[in-house]
Amino acid sequence: MRSNGILLKANWRYHLYKSIWVGIDWLFPPVCGGCGSPGTRWCQDCQKKVQAIDDPVCDACGLPQAHSGLCERCQEKRPSFKLLRSWTVFEEPVRKALHRLKYRRDIGLGEALSNQMSGFVAQLGWPVDSLMPIPLGKERLKERGYNQVAMVAMPLSIRLGLDYQPSALARARETRSQVGLSAVERQENVRGAFFADETKVSGQSVLLMDDVSTTGATLSSAAEALLASGAREVFAVTIARALPHHGLKIV
Ligand SMILES: [Zn+2]
Ligand SMILES: [Zn+2]
Repeated sequence: MRSNGILLKANWRYHLYKSIWVGIDWLFPPVCGGCGSPGTRWCQDCQKKVQAIDDPVCDACGLPQAHSGLCERCQEKRPSFKLLRSWTVFEEPVRKALHRLKYRRDIGLGEALSNQMSGFVAQLGWPVDSLMPIPLGKERLKERGYNQVAMVAMPLSIRLGLDYQPSALARARETRSQVGLSAVERQENVRGAFFADETKVSGQSVLLMDDVSTTGATLSSAAEALLASGAREVFAVTIARALPHHGLKIV
């Protein structure tokens, strides 16, 4: 079903989902995923510390820069996604929360983060039909047992009333971690790394989601696969954006 922009729908499915968490928190009192303080999954202090990304940013990939318009890299070659935006900078307390999500299977934290970032995604006003997380390769999925991006993407899709499509996109091969690679190496590393299910994406306007983006190379490669399978357009959102001072080698 085609949605007319993203609307925050306080629908019954979301309330049901929330009430399950209230029950679980009562049975197993949680700790904050950002600072470890007891009693809540994502405390008020950590909520306040989330740093928004200030304008101006690149019109396409959302990289913070000194002016509006396209960044140098997007001027050279536009990414395959139409737009990429990130909720916050890749710094504490979100950095710790994402680590916890990745290695501790903290599903409740995923719900709490999706709840706080849903307003940000809704105000982007993108005309999207479905939401899908960047998939893990089979090997990594077997090792970890779950996709950490799905921990946030699934409740976010319920909150925003979007079709959740976790299996529309898959990895064609395993790729090494992008950490420590230059922008050019990142593109090479993920080239042709994905394929999409035409029956699920054809004619769709898709919102792709990842936990952290740096150059947007992974999202662009996944968007290319979606477009090749007939997606109408692809938008991309990440929880956090790693900036050049977070260790990206610039070539
Ligand atoms: Zn906290
Ligand atoms: Zn750019």
